[in-house]
Formats: sequence, C-alpha cells, structure tokens
Amino acid sequence: MADKFDFDLFVIGGGSGGVRAARVAAGEYGAKVGLAEGDRYGGTCVIRGCVPKKLMVFASEYSSVPEEAAAYGWDDMHAGTFNWHGFRERLNGELDRLEGIYRNLLSGADVETFDQRAKVKDAHTVELADGTTKSAKHILVATGGYPVRPDIPNADLGIVSDDIFQLEKLPKSILIIGGGYIACEFACILNGLGVEVTQYYRGAQILRGFDDEARGLVAESMKESGVDLHVGSDIVEMCLAKDKHDGPQPTASDASMGMSDKEAEAMRSETDGAVAGQQGPIWVKASTGTEKVFDMVLFATGRMPSTNDMGLEDVGVKLGRKGEIEVDEYSQTGVPSIYAIGDVTDRVNLTPVAIREGMAFVQTVFGSDPTPVDHDLIPSAIFTQPEMGTVGLSEEQAQDQEEIEVYCTSFKPMQTSFAGKSNRVMMKLIVSKESRVVLGCHIVAPNAGELIQMVGIAVKAKLTKEQFDATCAVHPTMSEELVTMRKPARTA
Ligand code: NDP
Repeated sequence: MADKFDFDLFVIGGGSGGVRAARVAAGEYGAKVGLAEGDRYGGTCVIRGCVPKKLMVFASEYSSVPEEAAAYGWDDMHAGTFNWHGFRERLNGELDRLEGIYRNLLSGADVETFDQRAKVKDAHTVELADGTTKSAKHILVATGGYPVRPDIPNADLGIVSDDIFQLEKLPKSILIIGGGYIACEFACILNGLGVEVTQYYRGAQILRGFDDEARGLVAESMKESGVDLHVGSDIVEMCLAKDKHDGPQPTASDASMGMSDKEAEAMRSETDGAVAGQQGPIWVKASTGTEKVFDMVLFATGRMPSTNDMGLEDVGVKLGRKGEIEVDEYSQTGVPSIYAIGDVTDRVNLTPVAIREGMAFVQTVFGSDPTPVDHDLIPSAIFTQPEMGTVGLSEEQAQDQEEIEVYCTSFKPMQTSFAGKSNRVMMKLIVSKESRVVLGCHIVAPNAGELIQMVGIAVKAKLTKEQFDATCAVHPTMSEELVTMRKPARTA
C-alpha cells in the first residue's frame, strides 16, 4: 500500500496496544507501518507495570512459605533474607528479554521503528524528535499514561511506581499514599518483602468503586498481615527529615529497632546525597496531625494520559479534563485520520483492553469491518494478598439498577486454616431477581485473578444462577462455593 504517504499507518507509542496494532496491520493486512517509541518497547505493562509488579508479587509471597510449611511437617525451613540486588538483576534480565521479543515482533512484521519521541504535526504528518517528518494515511496515538504526584511542596522527594523496580536498595520503612490498585498492590508486595509499610488513604475505604464487602475484606487482610493502613488520612506536608528544624524525628523503623536519636541521625546522614527517592528519611505530616519519618514515600495517586506536548489540540484533536484523547466507539478522534487507543484515552486502563482496542482499530481501518470496542463486563484482578478478582456489577451498583439477590460466603480456606492462620476468603455472586442472570462476581482469595478469568466467561455469557448451580462442584476447592451457594445472604 502507501503511495501518496510515507506510511499507511504511523503508530506513536510502543506499548502493548500500539505494538499489537502495528504488527497486525503490517503482518496481516500488508500495510506499510511506522512506529515511534522514545523509551523502551513494551510500555508500562511490560517495563514498569504489570510484568515486573507480578514478579515482585511472586517474590513477596515466598516469605510466608516456611511458616506454613512447618505446619505441614517440614522441619528446619526458614525464610532467610530477601536479596533485592539478586532479584533486581534477574528482573532486569527478564525485562530485556521481553523487550527483545517486542522488537522482534515488530521487525518480523516489517514495521519500521524509530527509537525516538514523535508528535502530531498535522492530520497526516508526525514529527520525530530529530526534526524529520513522516506522512501517514492514518495516525494511531498509543502513548499511554504516566504516574502523578499530588500538588504539595517537596512532592518530588517521593517516588512513583515507575521508580520502584530500579531502587538501589529497599527501604526499611515506606509510606504509601493512595488507595487504588497500585497503592494496595505495592503495600502488600513491600510488606511481604519485609519493608515496614504504612499506607494513607484519604477516603473512607481503599479500592473505591469496587464491591464494598470485597474491599473491606482486602483492607482487613492487609492490616492483619502487617500493613499499617490508615483511611481518612492524607499527606499534607513533607520534607527531608534533616531539614526539619525540630531535629530528628523517630522513623517507623527506628522505633521498632529501638534506635536512639543519635543512631538514627547517623544512619540518615549516611544516605545524604543519594538518588531521588533515596535522599534520606522524609518527614511527613498527615491530615490527622500525625507527624512521622519514613525512609521513603511512594505516591500511588493515579495516572494521567500522556498527551503533553503532542501537538494534538493544534491539529483539532479534542482532549478531556485529564488530558485524555476523546474518541468514539471505534477509537477515532474528531480528526478522521487520527485514532487513539489505550490509557491515553482513559477509558478502561488495562493492558488487555488496550490490545483489544488496537485489534478493533485494525479491523475497522484495514479490515473494512467497523468494529466497536466492547468495554462491557471486563474481568480484572488486584494483586493484593489475598488477591481480589472482580467482574460485572458490585452489590452497590447492582442494587441501584434493579432488585437483586446476593449470594455470599466467607470462610477460612483449607490450606492456611490447617496451618493455624485466621485469614478468610470470600466468594460473592450478585444475581438479578427478575432475569436470574449473574450480574457480578467478586472473589477475595489467593489466585483470585486466575479464578475470575474463568468466571468472567460465564458472566460475559450472561449465565443465570441456575446455570451456575447446574455445574458440578470441583471438590475440595475454594471456588466450588461459586456453584454451591443455595440461599441468598440477602435481597436488595
Ligand atoms: P487509581 O486511580 O486506581 O488510584 C489512585 C488513588 O490515589 C486513589 O485511591 C485516589 O483516591 C488517590 N489519590 C488521587 N489523587 C490524590 C491526591 N492528590 N492525594 C491523595 N490521594 C490521591 O490509580 P493507580 O495509580 O492505583 O492505578 C492507575 C490505573 O492503573 C488503574 O486505574 C488501573 O486501571 C491500572 N492498574 C491496574 C492494575 C491491575 O489490573 N491489577 C494494577 C495497577 C494499575 P480517591 O479514591 O479518593 O480518588
């Protein structure tokens, strides 16, 4: 293809969505495709999100193994100490491997790549960072998003999720700000790796928007496992502890280690002049008036679409309040030749959704088959400990919509109960009273992410409670409860 233009398609952004769209347009439809990426190929998910995060989840879960194994008769197993440097080296190796795969997928499909940033110059032209321009019949913006810090003085002393994977050393204590996916996942991960974790969330309960009962159980479990979670609490002031005139404050880790002020001060001066996020202990004042010192502060206070300095508004592409690109159901902007997919559109900010949006875009533009993106009933998981898996409506959302029956059970799972642990799991189904369709499913349990993928099929297929019940239980499992709950816990 491509005669009057340099390319049929030029993709800006080499994350999961952009790479998928580029290689399918080129590989399956024979389009001439260019792609520009100013950072590493693979984007947020592969390089500084889902993948390294999940590997850290695995790392953090080993800490509880020896204690549980002892109850199962394993003598002399002990936890040892977590070797961050060793882990980080292996992690970096894995990320290099994955980035290589992404690059190979593009070159294998004959996509021409440009390792630099690009911006939109006009409806059919992109400008690369080196000043050269490329023309394209279609432009796809897939630039993702970036983590933001709150607007308070000295906020740059805190790190964001991007920074975690490259830390020189793990802190002894950390304050995590926020109550969303990233805050809760890293609170559990770092707690499991032996870091003393304090979490401040400004609202009444973490994981706003999810089923109340499910997020309540996640919060309770996090506290039981050692996360010092404070809801109704936010950060209002911060500075380096050494800059605080009132002298050194006890850190969360000093207190538990019984360090004297002098010892604590000596430890702090050792870390002076370190890289961002590791410049030394940070004094923090909370909205509740509490003042404390932490070795590190992590802001997990949300992400913004990456549309800064992209030239979009100059060419007539509309941006929303957060800077997200406004698109229709086919991911098309108001400028017909320009499309956008993934987090930059701030629809459902999940990797598999960006990939589906990329596929639907290709089908629409190169397959001559207008394909809207289906954003309904998307299952997702929060990799806390225990995990939370969710699909469909929460109890609160469903009862605003129609009359429902709630089937719910919470119990101590066999594996950890045998080891004397008190942790509980939860299985919950929200059922329409009228149609009997299962409107939502919420699971809080180890491996809930794996479970909700399967239940997601049944919920997406709009199966009824009776069809769930007609499925024979797999025994003994936790998830058999999903097909054996006979009586509703309540109706609403
Ligand atoms: P979220 O939007 O989920 O959470 C942001 C949190 O920060 C909320 O608790 C919010 O509070 C709080 N917050 C926002 N601004 C401030 C502020 N100025 N001061 C104090 N607190 C503040 O964002 P995340 O960064 O956790 O995650 C971003 C997206 O990444 C998610 O929406 C998700 O789509 C994706 N993601 C998915 C994962 C998965 O699938 N497992 C894992 C990680 C990320 P409030 O509730 O009051 O607004």
